[in-house]
Amino acid sequence: MASYYSPSIEKLIESFEKLPSIGHKTAVRLAFYILNSSDEEANEFITNIKNAKTNLKFCSKCFNISDTDPCEICSDPKRDQTKICVVEDVKDVVAIEKIHEYKGLYHVLHGTISPMDGIGPEDIKIKELIARLQDGIVKEVILATNPKVEGEATAMYISKLIKPMGVKTTRLAHGIPVGGDLEYTDEFTLEKAFEGRTEL
Ligand SMILES: [Zn+2]
Repeated sequence: MASYYSPSIEKLIESFEKLPSIGHKTAVRLAFYILNSSDEEANEFITNIKNAKTNLKFCSKCFNISDTDPCEICSDPKRDQTKICVVEDVKDVVAIEKIHEYKGLYHVLHGTISPMDGIGPEDIKIKELIARLQDGIVKEVILATNPKVEGEATAMYISKLIKPMGVKTTRLAHGIPVGGDLEYTDEFTLEKAFEGRTEL
């Protein structure tokens, strides 16, 4: 496609287009927004991206994203060390933290088992979860993977691995729409789902 923009603008538009849910029109709008913003504003944007990329790391315990390792949640002595809530994605931790109901620890799998996409149990953080259960401190693992086929299958897989270790596994109560995303579930529904979790 012929370009009507100068190469520098074109490059900026291309960068925005790579972002999720950004189409060409929006990319053009964002690029021009940056061009029209003050140097100070543009530099702050650049610095924020740089800092986020340099400072943020994965917590070596729960694989949440954080400025520190271990993360703020893992290093908080007030959190209930006997519970681990297993989620698919870092964004799910934020969704659950927002309801202020859960006071235990987390474990971020970074995906679900999905044979169709060639993702097996060894491709997500399952063995790291099992390793965290070895010292016997954790008494309950809450499987809060999304209620989609892959999320359910992953929860069942983990539950089967954990049960022989004498750790209780629970699943969030229904209420989160089947096929839905934890991330987009409203806080009230999520809170109820937590309260009504059932043993697997
Ligand atoms: Zn952590």
